[in-house]
Amino acid sequence: MVLNIEEFAKFCKRKGFVFPTAEIYGGLAGFYDYGPLGVEVKNSVKQQWWKFFVNDRLDVVGIDGCIITNPKVWHASGHVESFTDIMLLCNKCKNAVRADHFLSEKYGVKPESLNLERVKQIIKEKNIKCSCGGEFQVQEFNLMFKTFIGPFQDEGSKSFLRPETAQLIFANFKNIVETSRLKPPFGIAQIGKAFRNEISPRNFLFRMREFEMMEIEYFATNLECPFFKEVSDLELQMLPARLQEKQGEPVRTSLKQAVSNGWLSEWLAYWIGVSVKWFTRFGVDINNLRARQHLSEEKAHYATDTWDIEYKFPFGWKEVVGIADRGVFDLSRHEKFSSKKLRVFDQAKGSLIPRVVAEPSFGLDRAFLVFMFEALSFDKDRNNFVLKIHPVLAPFKVAVFPLLSNKEELVEKALTVYNGLKHEFPTFFDASGSIGRRYARQDEIGTPFCVTIDFQTLQDDTVTIRDRDTTKQERLAIQELASYIHKKLRL
Ligand code: AMP
Repeated sequence: MVLNIEEFAKFCKRKGFVFPTAEIYGGLAGFYDYGPLGVEVKNSVKQQWWKFFVNDRLDVVGIDGCIITNPKVWHASGHVESFTDIMLLCNKCKNAVRADHFLSEKYGVKPESLNLERVKQIIKEKNIKCSCGGEFQVQEFNLMFKTFIGPFQDEGSKSFLRPETAQLIFANFKNIVETSRLKPPFGIAQIGKAFRNEISPRNFLFRMREFEMMEIEYFATNLECPFFKEVSDLELQMLPARLQEKQGEPVRTSLKQAVSNGWLSEWLAYWIGVSVKWFTRFGVDINNLRARQHLSEEKAHYATDTWDIEYKFPFGWKEVVGIADRGVFDLSRHEKFSSKKLRVFDQAKGSLIPRVVAEPSFGLDRAFLVFMFEALSFDKDRNNFVLKIHPVLAPFKVAVFPLLSNKEELVEKALTVYNGLKHEFPTFFDASGSIGRRYARQDEIGTPFCVTIDFQTLQDDTVTIRDRDTTKQERLAIQELASYIHKKLRL
């Protein structure tokens, strides 16, 4: 049974993964809070991303920049001018909708092909009105949240909450390169909150107004990627712009073949490859992922070429990672606006602005959704949900139970086992209800192992350990438990 997004949101709330923000006051559209279990999964996703893309690589360093920064950054980056969506605003009931969503859902228009003029034309030609009968005004809407810095709330103190983390990497470029002595090719990564005043937030965590991004700006001075071989044989479904223009279906192909077809650069192919590998490493089926190129009208103002990694959600194929070639757009704009040189030295070419050959930009909340959707199913035999999430991402790695909750000697022994494990892994202790109910509760929240203390334990210091996915039980000595679980957590 595949849950739709509303049922999934209900599940997340019922089990303590995610709540609508400040629900006692009616919540707030586009804002969600992570609960006790959700925060554990989210933190693990973050840690695993940082480990894979930063700590395990020699060529990538990280930063943690500000959410509010000098507003000149957003003028230089082009966001003040161009970070917009097209909005349809009803002049009667003041209902506002995102034009591409509205026209694609109600009139079957391809959302990727819309610009301001085209939207105006369609509204006029088809005489489209709001459901209240009012006329739609078509306008561009800037997605940045505005704020004021300091006590004087005037034009001079106006600033923005960042809509992406990337600009802090560009604005700090000189300091990072000099202090870390980086030579191209290299990447700079960042995880952090971003804010977009989305016109119509929807689909639970998928489109929010406050969310978290995990991004890398990868700089190079050569067009060949020296590591391409590591992923070149990887096969996945790909949908280049030229196929979309002919209404074609995605084709399954190797990244090597896609590059030789001239669909994309080696660098973009490389970063698609490693990003897909990161998802599959934690159990995501590669058939539920695909790479789709942006059509030219769809590309952001800074991008030369962009590919999205999309996941097959119950509400369709949707972007979870955007990988753009930003060229020299950002660093040249910051050079111009700041009058500071933002260059690197290349042996063959001398001093130059390096190109952002790839910007893998992951939505952390969307990655959370992918791992959770991929893992959650209803097990008819057990008659409960089972969250088969990768053990490394599971909120608790192990739960410890006394077989019977009213036998003091079992409870005492179980507490001793729990105390021995809790410093090794996030461990849960439960002595309430029937043992079957306790197993079911752990299945639902994804705990990969349940350890039960029974009467035999009191004789020989062995316990049963139950596997979440198979429900099979083994008998193990208490002293072997930690190393057994550690082994299962190794990637
Ligand atoms: P973009 O810069 O628009 O390509 O966004 C980069 C990534 O951030 C996307 O691939 C998404 O995973 C994530 N993202 C963008 N907008 C939102 C949003 N409103 N809510 C949640 N995640 C988002």
